[in-house]
Parts: sequence; C-alpha cells; structure tokens
Amino acid sequence: MTTNYTDTRLLINGEWTDAKSGKTIDVINPATGKPIGKVAHAGIADLDQALASAQRGFDAWKNTSAPERANVMRKAAGLLRERADAIARLLTQEQGKPLIEARGEVMAGAEIIEWFADEGRRVYGRIVPSRNLAAQQLVLKEPVGPVAAFTPWNFPINQIVRKLGAALATGCSFLVKAPEETPASPAALLQCFVDAGIPPGTVGLVFGDPAEISSYLIASPIIRKVTFTGSTPVGKQLAALAGAHMKRVTMELGGHAPVIVAEDADVALAVKAAGAAKFRNAGQVCISPTRFLVHNSLVDEFSKALVKHAESLKLGDGLTAGTTLGPLANARRITAMAKVMDDARAKGATIATGGERISGEGNFYAPTVITNVSLDADVFNNEPFGPVAAVRGFDNLEEAITEANRLPFGLAGYAFTKSIKTAHILGQRLELGMLWINQPAMPSAEMPFGGVKDSGYGSEGGPEALESYLVTKSVSILGV
Ligand code: NAD
Repeated sequence: MTTNYTDTRLLINGEWTDAKSGKTIDVINPATGKPIGKVAHAGIADLDQALASAQRGFDAWKNTSAPERANVMRKAAGLLRERADAIARLLTQEQGKPLIEARGEVMAGAEIIEWFADEGRRVYGRIVPSRNLAAQQLVLKEPVGPVAAFTPWNFPINQIVRKLGAALATGCSFLVKAPEETPASPAALLQCFVDAGIPPGTVGLVFGDPAEISSYLIASPIIRKVTFTGSTPVGKQLAALAGAHMKRVTMELGGHAPVIVAEDADVALAVKAAGAAKFRNAGQVCISPTRFLVHNSLVDEFSKALVKHAESLKLGDGLTAGTTLGPLANARRITAMAKVMDDARAKGATIATGGERISGEGNFYAPTVITNVSLDADVFNNEPFGPVAAVRGFDNLEEAITEANRLPFGLAGYAFTKSIKTAHILGQRLELGMLWINQPAMPSAEMPFGGVKDSGYGSEGGPEALESYLVTKSVSILGV
C-alpha cells in the first residue's frame, strides 16, 4: 500500500526547520509497529527562537483587524478541507484510527476554525455610564498574549484546533507542543495557516521532551497563557507550574464517563449510541463512556446487545476499507489494558467478550465488554482509555447518581431515559461538565466543552472558549 507519510520539522517564524542539534524521534505506525518517519526534537536554543518568534507574531496579529483575522482563518479552514483526504491518511498512519474517523476529524477541525473565525468578529467591550457625568468608562477586551499549548495524540488535529481557534480569533499568537507520536497531521494543519498568509510567528510548532518543553515555555515571561489537554496527573503538574509563574490556564483533563441506562430506557438506542461512542477511536477519548450503570431489570438485555455490537466491529489497519476499530495508538495502551483487565478478572468481573490483545503485529486489542464489575475494580476508578465497556447493575436512580458522582472526575456523562423528569433530575444532579441524554456525544464548537473537579477547568467551546484568551481592561476618560 502506498503511503504519503513524511518527516516532520519544527515550525518557527513561519519556516520549517530541523532542530539545531539535528536530533529526531522515530514515529511508529501503531497498526504495524514499524517506524514510518521522524520528527525533529527541539532543544532550548530552538525554543528560544520559537518564543521570540511567538512574541513577534503576537505583535503583528493583535494589530490585525478582527475581520482580517477571520479571513485568514477561513482561508486556512478551506485549505484544510481541500487537503482532508491526504491529511486523514497521515493521521491514520501515525495514530491508528480508521480513515473515515480521521477524515471526520479533519473536516470537523475546519468547521471549528470557521466558527471561531466568525465568533472573533464579535468580541466586543462595553461602555459603562460613569458616576462622574464628565467621564466615560470603557471596558476593553484584549488578547492575553502569546499562548503555549500542549496537546495529546488521541485527536492530533482536533485537540489543537479548539485551542488554536480561540487563540487566533482573539488576537493571540499560538505556540504548540504537539504529540511526538502523531506529529505529521498537526504539521499539515499548521501548514494551512502558513499557506493562508498568517504573519510569521503567529503559529509555531515544536516537539521534543514534553517535560523539558513545558517547564521552559511556561516559565518564559513571553508566554501569557497555558492550555493543556491530557491526563489529570500531568495537568496538575502544569497547573502548579503555571500558578508559580502567574499564567492563565485552561486544563482539559481525564474523565470517567458514567452512562446511566434508566429503567424506562430504550435499550436499542442506548446500545447504538453509547456503544458507538465507546469504541470510537478505540476508546481513547476523554469523553468515552466508561462506567455503564444499567437498571437491573435491563442489565442482561443491555449487556447481550452491547456484546453483539462489540463483536460486529471490524478490527484492522485504519487504512483498510471497512475497518471500524483500529489499533491502540501506542504500546503503553496495550500494557495499560492488560493491567486493567488482570485487575478486573482478579476482582471477579465476567469477561463477556474480548479481554485480550490480538496476536501479531500492531497494537490491536479486542473490543471488550465486562459485566458484574465490582466498585473497587481499577476499571471503575481510573480512566481505562481503551476499548473496554464495564457494566454494573443498579436498583434505583439515586444509587446510579451516587455512583456517577463518586469519582473525582467530572468531564462527560450519558443517560438514557424516556422520562423528561428523570432527564431533568440527572441534568441537575450529575457533577459533570457535559451530559448527553438519549444520544451519543455531540460536541460542537458553539457548545462549551470542558470538565469540573479533577477533569480540569476552563472551556474549549462556545463564547467561554474565547473569554479565556482575553484580558479585561477598564479605562476611564475624563473630558478635557
Ligand atoms: P501522559 O499522562 O504521560 O501524557 C498525556 C499527554 O501529556 C501526552 O500528550 C504527553 O505528551 C503529554 N505530557 C506528558 N507529560 C508532560 C509534561 N510534563 N509537559 C507537557 N506535556 C506532557 O500519558 P500517555 O501515556 O500519553 O496517556 C495516558 C493517559 O493520559 C491516558 O490514560 C488518559 O487518561 C490521558 N490522556 C487524556 C487525553 C484527553 O483527551 N484528555 C488525551 C491523551 C491522554
């Protein structure tokens, strides 16, 4: 099969460049376990250049009018659409997800950029009548400054565009450390902005040692805002570092989404919607449904149907037509799944289907459904980030709500019920940032996206997303 995979360089001051040291990191295709390319590994000297260039980019971009900024962003989104097929192939080769999901991610990325481009035209301040009638009071909204972003490998395009869209729409420059494991699709994304004519330095891209880069960029006086998507432990470290340097922060961290299937639920709908959401991107999704809490009167019917759904998935290389479940994105996920499943077995869970790595090349793991899962099982407490659905029965709604709220995480949740009263109770009582009732996850650019508790703070959708890249200035002018 022909591939279009290319090596990835750093984007500094609008130019693609190797690391000064010449150092690179291998990129592995998770479907084959074989290297497919290399990515440049930035050192401190590269980061210094990237920072200086982000400052210059900010000086140019903040002085570009909002409609002009929107034009550049819309042009970049158009290029992303035109190149979607080629970029999707890069994404699938480095990340593993089926081509159709990769293409969907690229197209959704274009739409998110356009939404932010338009929303950026409507960033207004206000005039507040003064107590002194001779004075005029203005509230101005200004871009916070150069942004340092850190994004993960599960959605190499989408995790960047939600941050990039809001930053550029508000007039900030944007320096991102994208994932070393999936570098080529982020580079193709940023190339669209370069080709759309964005001023040099307004967008920058680096790779290297994540801890070295984050500690250097966050401490730099040039960077005014930090945004991270990834695990809760790393998020806590970066938030602490940002706090020490008084930087604004958005944290989009791990979740452990409950799925409440109430006594009056439409089981077929619940299986279709939550089943599709569960195995999308092989479960490596922060809003992936994880704890399936099913009313005891439905638990057998639901579990059987979910097993049938899992067994109908076609596991394979994401580039192969018809594949509906790709490999796990890296070998660490295989090790993590083995640990989670050993623990579940030891604690008495029933393996209804799957539960094993598929032998041969690549990081393939069978879609898995487990039932009778005990509350102290690891899978019911820590984000498994893999293709496993864990099912447990409940007797009354109160019990399900208590379990849903038990964990320190509060990102996404799902519920299935025909009762509007139950829907409202769940909407009010579940401690989550996002809740979808009677449907799979439907995140859109215009709806807030983010979590509560250990799942982080800040939002990456809706007007709130722009707010977090703006600072507010009060100006009072006394008539002369
Ligand atoms: P990890 O926690 O080491 O890394 C998660 C992400 O953070 C990666 O992209 C990594 O490059 C980055 N990272 C790690 N240390 C960093 C640092 N000091 N500074 C800046 N960035 C840093 O582990 P992992 O094996 O890549 O993923 C494991 C867990 O991370 C998953 O089980 C999942 O819980 C979580 N995760 C969440 C998301 C999400 O969408 N919220 C995405 C990917 C991973």
